[in-house]
Amino acid sequence: MVSSTDEADGAIVNTCGFIAPAVEESIDAILDLEILRRSGKLKFLGIVGCLVNRYEKDLRSEIPSADLFARVGDLETIAKAMNGGSLCQDRVLLPGSPAWTRYLKISEGCDNRCSYCTIPGIRGRLASVPPEEVYREAARLVSEGAKEICLVAQDLSAYGRDLGDRVDLGVLIDGFEDRFRGEDLWFRLLYLHPGRVGRGLIERVASSDLFLNYMDLPVQHASNRVLEAMNRGGSEGDRALGLFSFARSLDPRFALRTTLMVGFPGETDEDFEILLEFLQTALIDRVGVFPFYPEEGTPAAEMEGQVVEEVKMERMERLFSLQERISYERQRTFEGEVLKVLVDECHPGEGYLEGRSFREAPEVDGVVEASLKTAVRPGEFVKVKVLEALEHDLVGEVVAP
Ligand code: SF4
Repeated sequence: MVSSTDEADGAIVNTCGFIAPAVEESIDAILDLEILRRSGKLKFLGIVGCLVNRYEKDLRSEIPSADLFARVGDLETIAKAMNGGSLCQDRVLLPGSPAWTRYLKISEGCDNRCSYCTIPGIRGRLASVPPEEVYREAARLVSEGAKEICLVAQDLSAYGRDLGDRVDLGVLIDGFEDRFRGEDLWFRLLYLHPGRVGRGLIERVASSDLFLNYMDLPVQHASNRVLEAMNRGGSEGDRALGLFSFARSLDPRFALRTTLMVGFPGETDEDFEILLEFLQTALIDRVGVFPFYPEEGTPAAEMEGQVVEEVKMERMERLFSLQERISYERQRTFEGEVLKVLVDECHPGEGYLEGRSFREAPEVDGVVEASLKTAVRPGEFVKVKVLEALEHDLVGEVVAP
């Protein structure tokens, strides 16, 4: 493994293809590498992942210089093309990936049929990883140095529905508690369908020493009419609000994240006002906002009442500016507090470190920046006193290792 294509003999592009910008990004990466492949600088070019699931035929005819096309999870085909057929059991981290923060996928695929979403078509039906395998993998990550394990899936809350009545996310969390209780590491839950999350699960998380009081519940919208058209049953705006306020009733500091979509077909000004009101009431820490993309092959792409781009952009702007104020107010409630922070970067020369507390998931949320007197290693926990809140980040000083 090398960290730049200049040093590489071969390259594999692991593609994403669920919405138009992801498709474009993947294609840009492929085209850049295709130039190197055609000039002979690269001896091998592989294209793997979701884009192949979605557009294999087109890719094969448009990128004839590629040496390999493999669908999601088809490791054998990749191994055969690169290694003469055998899968190597060892694994190495990609260059630049931290060993202390890792993702653990507990299921693949999705049985929900949100009307705008290509993922069930690309990834197939829900297939949960059996609990014992999940625990084994978690233990392996810990033995490799993990201090933070983020559980991920297309929909974490569906975990175990294909494994019989006895397994669900709550049961899985209990098993983690039994195995890792008392260890200096933390677990984080990303991507939970709000329609499937009950108060019991939130209580389970809030009472856990291992699982952080952090939940990512993508509600997408708050107008019941729009949610129904999205085929997101059970995630009515009032119900989602109830979940958020229940989490905060258990812990006022509970970190909440969501994703919203604007410009879904048929979304009226009134629907949008409902969404604004929702944000104002829910006081969510962090919100991602996306415009609706009419994706080929989805029912929503064919729906009447498509919203023009200009209106989508204007609605996005309004949501962003409202949420900026809310995020900042949430950030300010942490001024003066001492937070446990997992160090991602340390710059002793410049006298500061960068890390994340329970409130910041890797890559998507802000960071905590803190001044320090003595160097610490990335992957260690330190205590930081927050001195100043910025819109996305917190600034403070290290008060204890
Ligand atoms: S739950 Fe998520 S992955 Fe599943 S269909 Fe809906 S948006 Fe797509």
